[in-house]
Amino acid sequence: MSILDDNEKLKTLAMHDQLTGLPNRHYSLALLESRIKESKQFDIPFGIAILDIDHFKKVNDNYGHTIGDLVLQVFSKTCSGSIRKSDIIARYGGEEFLCIFTGVDSDSLKISLEQLRMLVSASTIRKDNLSVAITVSIGGTMVQEDDSIISIIERADRLMYQSKNNGRNQVTIG
Ligand code: GH3
Ligand code: MG
Ligand code: MG
Repeated sequence: MSILDDNEKLKTLAMHDQLTGLPNRHYSLALLESRIKESKQFDIPFGIAILDIDHFKKVNDNYGHTIGDLVLQVFSKTCSGSIRKSDIIARYGGEEFLCIFTGVDSDSLKISLEQLRMLVSASTIRKDNLSVAITVSIGGTMVQEDDSIISIIERADRLMYQSKNNGRNQVTIG
């Protein structure tokens, strides 16, 4: 019994990011794979987004790595608290996150992402007498018939970079 419990704990540990508690990259790709299968089999639409915190290196440079870590934790809580239970936010890389929104269309995807963007830009992270503000650049896209994990992520990534190039703190849908 306890061996089984330990096994479950280990599995959960391996699937989540230690700093933020969010699903990690590996786990998020498995989730994305099953969403793609579902969408092909049952015609269930879904959308994804890549979120990349703007000028995050400056947060580390200006306030130190510990505050950088805290910013990542607060950002993760803010985002996971504002999406639906059926949606997923995962830590895809250092300051990059992958969101999966099930049962949305392009318009509602845009609305959800715009809400996330605004929420992040409106909240400040406080520690002692320090107050840090961040913004996030987002690329969002709906699944297409012939999508693979790679093709849908690459599309979202390109759109996120469009948001960066257009001045950051914005959502680009495509
Ligand atoms: P851009 O707006 O173009 O995205 O600029 P950026 O500074 O956010 O991007 P860049 O890729 O230059 O820097 C990302 C930084 O994120 C560098 C890296 O040290 C930091 N980082 C990655 N993971 C962690 C982490 O777990 N903790 C902390 N504190 N910093 C991290
Ligand atoms: Mg990045
Ligand atoms: Mg960044």
